[in-house]
Amino acid sequence: MLGAIADDFTGATDLAIMLRRNGYRVAVTIEDHDPGTTAGLDAVVIALKTRTAPVAEAVDTSRAALHRLRDWGADQVYVKYCSTFDSTDAGNIGPVLDVVADELGAEKVVVAPALPANGRTVYLGHLFVGADLLEHSSMRHHPLTPMTRSRVADLLRPQTPHAVAELHHGTIRQGADAVRAAIAAAPARYVVVDTIDDEDLRVLGAAVADSPVVSGGSGLARGLRSPGTPDDDWQSIPDTGRVVLCGSASATTRRQIADAARTQPVRRVDPRAAVHEPGAEIGRLVDWVRAQAAGAAPVVYATGETADVVSEVDGRPVAPAVEEVLAGAARRLVAEAGITRLLAAGGETSGAIVRALGIGLLRIGPEIAPGICWSGATTTAGDLALALKSGNFGPDDLFTSAWERLA
Ligand code: ADP
Repeated sequence: MLGAIADDFTGATDLAIMLRRNGYRVAVTIEDHDPGTTAGLDAVVIALKTRTAPVAEAVDTSRAALHRLRDWGADQVYVKYCSTFDSTDAGNIGPVLDVVADELGAEKVVVAPALPANGRTVYLGHLFVGADLLEHSSMRHHPLTPMTRSRVADLLRPQTPHAVAELHHGTIRQGADAVRAAIAAAPARYVVVDTIDDEDLRVLGAAVADSPVVSGGSGLARGLRSPGTPDDDWQSIPDTGRVVLCGSASATTRRQIADAARTQPVRRVDPRAAVHEPGAEIGRLVDWVRAQAAGAAPVVYATGETADVVSEVDGRPVAPAVEEVLAGAARRLVAEAGITRLLAAGGETSGAIVRALGIGLLRIGPEIAPGICWSGATTTAGDLALALKSGNFGPDDLFTSAWERLA
């Protein structure tokens, strides 16, 4: 069985879709939830919220997740991070890779953030977002993990005491055997591998089939050996209310909000109120959603334009306050307003919402767009169809088109 540790919840579902498409029967467990049995599963993805946690906490939480995966019979571990390598010089990608590789005695670990389907590619060691280097993409302005360099090895080196090497595209083109040999010969524990399309990921996946630890975005999962064809056990959930909750400040999410605003009611979270009176702000948002016409898909968002991003209000940080408000609104909307279809935008935001809803397990359902799917979850208030979207993922019309996949 493949065991995966994802550093945020959107990343966990992104990876699970890829695995499912590749023939894995897969479940996503949230944090330390115990699914009881993993019998019949080809993969378990543990969703953590460690991307921006303090380093020591991320390491301890990831180590504990690794132990659970081993107890459940995982014989290969996939460390999943964002395809834009979201991290700072302190971590958490490097420290988490270090602890997993140390515990499993892995001498080599590939580093493959590429997700070509979403325009994330690695060429000559540099990470591109579409035609732009990472440092010239909107990730440069991320509120929590601004990415100001593009060479993956340069991003990883400050995060680990171990050496980092690069394996360039010329070797990938020679096929899996050449890649396997080059990884083995690399003078480093970590090997950043050029991957510019799905064929490169397939070659890399074949080369690392027997590696105890692999790491990357979700793209590498497409390249791993397929165990077969999964059963389709998705069961639809009645549609009694829809809402979109956006904590992402990314350019893609801002376009999606603007697109939805042409036909759907939209409302911005007030950052000052989020900091000073979160309970009251939650109440106003819940009332506003409840006041919308039946069948509408109202959008609650935190950032409509970059100028909306404020790091502090009266010396107190805004980002966690916004997360708290969106998560609190989600809890009340599901419990009191009959919401059974919820689309969450933003990795940290999704983590806060899933935690607030007390969800332990996500059953992977219909795919919406690359990296985004509906999943089924049981909350204390009943069953919910939930889509968790990384900020930069999805087409511009996502907030109006996603619902069609559940029809
Ligand atoms: P993404 O997937 O785009 O990275 P996340 O949800 O992971 O989105 O991160 C966005 C972070 O920015 C969250 O912590 C959110 O609360 C915060 N945020 C959103 N809007 C604002 C804002 N206007 N001012 C300050 N922080 C904000």
